[in-house]
Amino acid sequence: MRALDGATVIVWLESAGEVLASRQDDLTSLDAAIGDGDHGINMSRGFGALPAIFAEHTAAPPGSVLKSAGKAILSNVGGASGALWGVFFRAASKVLGDQPEVAPEQLVAALRAGLDSIKALGASAPGDKTMVDALTPAVECLESASPPGGEAFAAAAEASLLGAASTVPLQARKGRASYLGERSIGHEDPGAASAAIVIRALADTVG
Ligand code: ADP
Ligand code: MG
Repeated sequence: MRALDGATVIVWLESAGEVLASRQDDLTSLDAAIGDGDHGINMSRGFGALPAIFAEHTAAPPGSVLKSAGKAILSNVGGASGALWGVFFRAASKVLGDQPEVAPEQLVAALRAGLDSIKALGASAPGDKTMVDALTPAVECLESASPPGGEAFAAAAEASLLGAASTVPLQARKGRASYLGERSIGHEDPGAASAAIVIRALADTVG
């Protein structure tokens, strides 16, 4: 796989935003079942703010595209997901610095740093029924491929979808859904569902 530039990262995040907007009602229904019913709106608003920001940064390196994405999502989304995706992109951007292009391995390291920062901020681990359950298998899948090519990114997207589905039988231990106790069992976690959409958009962009 070729090196990735900032324009590729922009295509990834804008296409993720388009799918999140088209799935807004599904994500909101998932959150209505075990949360407060705003997740679809939160993700659409956060990622929907990106094209206007990116219009001013068309030639920016990948790290600074991710940095401005994190800032925009943090300031446009009030929910937990805004803070969590905000730190995800900020941590990922730090790994990439201001290199004009990054190798796929470096992108994987950036995704790992992003995931670890979500776990640190959310005090969450796999099995807690959160977005971490979709992101962890995706990052692990990419880390096990050397070098990570298009097929590895496609496999990571599948792994994140399975990870999101794996949240259905779990009882939530973090976030609003945890207030429901056993009643959170039997529903897919909305943040895991949207995280799988973000990873799928990445695979479709770089693959
Ligand atoms: P809010 O819960 O503030 O309404 P959202 O509905 O936008 O925010 O996002 C909810 C999602 O955020 C959950 O489905 C879950 O995936 C994720 N989440 C919530 N708390 C945590 C946490 N502590 N760690 C990781 N992810 C979390
Ligand atoms: Mg919510």
